[in-house]
Amino acid sequence: MKWKQQLDGMQAYKPGKPIEEVQREFGLQEVVKLASNENPFGCSPKVTAYLQDNAVNHAIYPDGYAQNLRTAVANYLGVKETQLLFGNGSDDIITILTRALLYPGVNTIMADPSFSQYWHNADIEGAEVRKIPCINGAHDLNAMAAAIDDKTSIVWVCSPNNPTGVVIADNDLRAFLAKVPSDVLVVLDEAYIEYVTHPEHKNTLPLIEEYPNVLLMRTFSKAYGLASFRVGYAIGQPEVIAKLDPVRAPFNNTILSQTVAAIALSDQDYLQACCEANEKGKKQYVEFCEKHNLTYYPSDTNFIFLNTNADSDIVFHELMKRGFIIRSGNALGTPGFIRVTIGTEAQNEALLGHLETVLKEQG
Ligand code: PMP
Repeated sequence: MKWKQQLDGMQAYKPGKPIEEVQREFGLQEVVKLASNENPFGCSPKVTAYLQDNAVNHAIYPDGYAQNLRTAVANYLGVKETQLLFGNGSDDIITILTRALLYPGVNTIMADPSFSQYWHNADIEGAEVRKIPCINGAHDLNAMAAAIDDKTSIVWVCSPNNPTGVVIADNDLRAFLAKVPSDVLVVLDEAYIEYVTHPEHKNTLPLIEEYPNVLLMRTFSKAYGLASFRVGYAIGQPEVIAKLDPVRAPFNNTILSQTVAAIALSDQDYLQACCEANEKGKKQYVEFCEKHNLTYYPSDTNFIFLNTNADSDIVFHELMKRGFIIRSGNALGTPGFIRVTIGTEAQNEALLGHLETVLKEQG
């Protein structure tokens, strides 16, 4: 068959190990997954109540334009409805962007380490990938700007960055954007924005007015606790959105996902409570790292990226045997590090107890 040459030897995305697989493999009843930065408290109780009380006709196609959700998000953010593009998770937005803007002969720039889907999708499209190493978990924005040339099509800026957790301060971001040519799209991936508490991080929405080549990308998968429903969205200038919309698959959000995302958005009190609990949970990890002299990056997310000073694949495996799934830095190209999603207070305490034992064993 006439496969795209780029697919030669390409592997599918490997998400964190599924809970059921670990239960089977290690004969464990209870397994906690702190590997994919989901909300450990789940979604708003208003969503749960809706799901229990309402039967939905799944035989009909959903609204391809996600009108009700669009209106809810536009009102919440104070943007025009034409400034929004909805995706089947922000993964889908990434696919749409790469299909629309990347092809052999152009290049795309991203930090390293950062979210793997940027380069994975760029590879599929045959574009050149320019990975710019992070400095202490932060984007090296000067080097990223310097890497831009007339063949650059997309620059990916992940703030806060996955897997490091580091957010970009407003001044740094603006200084960077001022250097980017106006025909290069800057995608600001803000999957974890709800968790940000950094005092120098400001509202990023005005950036799309100041820099029409900026596209913000957000999701209901993280703080809103709706990962399984697959709803992500982009916010940009209407002209940018209008170019991307024809690339989108026709019915890329289900009826139920559109509805529950709008309900979750309406429950900002719950979101706030989750973010506050996350801050407390993060302190448990920070205290642990300080007690054990382990390097960690300042996280503005619901995960922490820390250096175990051990083989992170072994740490990953040992924690899994004890019923906790995390991410090994080896899989993310950062050996020694692990990425742990902040769980509930009890989950964090239990995991840190095990981590202490495992690290002692590793000497
Ligand atoms: N961007 C970043 C930075 C992420 O960490 C993730 C999920 N791991 C995504 C995008 C994709 O999220 P989703 O497709 O669930 O919206």
